[in-house]
Amino acid sequence: MKYIGPHVSASGGVENAPLNAMQVGASAFALFTKNQRQWFSAPLSEKSIASFKENLEKSGISADYVLPHDSYLINLGSPDPEGLEKSRNSFVEEMRRCEQLGLKMLNFHPGSHLKQISLEECLVRVAESINFALEKTQGVTAVIENTAGQGTNVGFSFQHLAQIIDKVEDKSRVGVCIDTCHTYSAGYDLKTEEGYIKTWQEFDDTVGAHYLRAVHLNDTKKAFASRVDRHDSIGKGLLGMKFFERFMRDPRFDDMPLILETPDEALWAEEIQLLQGMVK
Ligand SMILES: [Zn+2]
Ligand SMILES: [Zn+2]
Repeated sequence: MKYIGPHVSASGGVENAPLNAMQVGASAFALFTKNQRQWFSAPLSEKSIASFKENLEKSGISADYVLPHDSYLINLGSPDPEGLEKSRNSFVEEMRRCEQLGLKMLNFHPGSHLKQISLEECLVRVAESINFALEKTQGVTAVIENTAGQGTNVGFSFQHLAQIIDKVEDKSRVGVCIDTCHTYSAGYDLKTEEGYIKTWQEFDDTVGAHYLRAVHLNDTKKAFASRVDRHDSIGKGLLGMKFFERFMRDPRFDDMPLILETPDEALWAEEIQLLQGMVK
């Protein structure tokens, strides 16, 4: 079975996220557990935690299909010692918020070298940051997202993901989220049938299919291998409807959160129905 839903708003409190997901007919969702533009936030209140769990139950969505996303400020591969420390502490705080909410994964972008350290050194720092966070927390898996490779972001090549995972000590608590927009922009041709087969084969050969924990299902506005990250609504971008049909009929993506980060939220309910209708 396929579990699909958008990255919903948690405005007014995390407890509102499951209700927002329910409203569009989602069976999965993503959220920020705190303001994504702040380094640190007030701890979650007991009331908010209880209410989140209650609303999640009401929504009928299992915690297995909820994929929190970390703050955009965090750079786990930061070249700057102060920035790195702040990022690591903020990331641990986010992992703890997931623990409190009964969630099992935290999705994040690996990091940026900012032209101050080599890409390789950046990847090592990301892995060390994951080790730091896993040591201080329990039960939450660090889910690395592949990037489009915009600016100095690392993680646009499957090889980068493999290099990070290689240096993570507890391999049972590290995973990968593939963003279909980022993948295409990074130069993996998911659009054609041949490219689709080749891309997932390459992922399996390089990283290992068993590390895949989630997918961000987005269309893209930017050209193949452009390294520019601009999401589009399902079927309206360059990946196109054929890609989504192929994907939805592929059993390798059953039983994991498939998250829409598509730009027009007025279309979310429709997009979920459209995608679920493609499953055969
Ligand atoms: Zn992301
Ligand atoms: Zn994404």
